[in-house]
Amino acid sequence: MPEGHTLHRLALDHRKDLSGKRLRSSSPQGRFSVEAAELDGQRVDDISAHGKHLFYRFESGAHVHIHLGLYGRFRRARQPAPTPRGAIRWRIETDDVCLDLSGPTACELLDLEGVEGVKARLGPDLLRPDADASLAWQRITTSRRSLGALLLDQSVMSGVGNVYRAEGLFVAGLHPELRGDELARRDFTRLWKTLRQQLARGVKDKRIVTVPHPEGRRAARGERTWVYGQRVCKRCEGPIRRFELGARTMYACDTCQRR
Ligand SMILES: [Zn+2]
Repeated sequence: MPEGHTLHRLALDHRKDLSGKRLRSSSPQGRFSVEAAELDGQRVDDISAHGKHLFYRFESGAHVHIHLGLYGRFRRARQPAPTPRGAIRWRIETDDVCLDLSGPTACELLDLEGVEGVKARLGPDLLRPDADASLAWQRITTSRRSLGALLLDQSVMSGVGNVYRAEGLFVAGLHPELRGDELARRDFTRLWKTLRQQLARGVKDKRIVTVPHPEGRRAARGERTWVYGQRVCKRCEGPIRRFELGARTMYACDTCQRR
């Protein structure tokens, strides 16, 4: 499942390709035909990400809301656009590029009220400069659930998925089974900062790399994470424990991460 960095990267790339331009809009697969026809020929004024959600604002005031879910993806091609292959829900084109969206969990037309409704259910987005840390702190510290489960809950904070929760907790030195209401304020602040830095690096790198590497050298697969997908701790060389937490697989070092 894509984590927040993927969506912010897409918003950045799509702004470059599409912002301020009139788009051709269609639904080769047919499931978004009526909506796509309504948007056809309109100018897109803004594209933004909030957590794992994307929003496209058109000149008429209509918004497209997208959640990629597990299988959703965008394919980008230069014009002339390729013949549609597979189930393409939404195709958007300028004179230069063609973007094909397939397999999203959500692709819907909303008005401003609808957009605000989606955003109201989401916690502060770690990648947005205006993210309100105190809101996340309040939601964590009033909960008896484990930190590992809380980090995946998009209403607590948004953008963190399974890889960043393992990596953020490890680098911040916090155990995933620590309860929300046991977390000290200074530990929360360190975790918040760590996750923000890791996600921002993900936007830049276009992939999740949390272990420092020399500038210019690309991290090999298996060298990119501290604990996620690892067997041995890179810090203490002890075993990495793998267990279910919040219905997903968690990785942690019981020595380096304090309870
Ligand atoms: Zn360790």
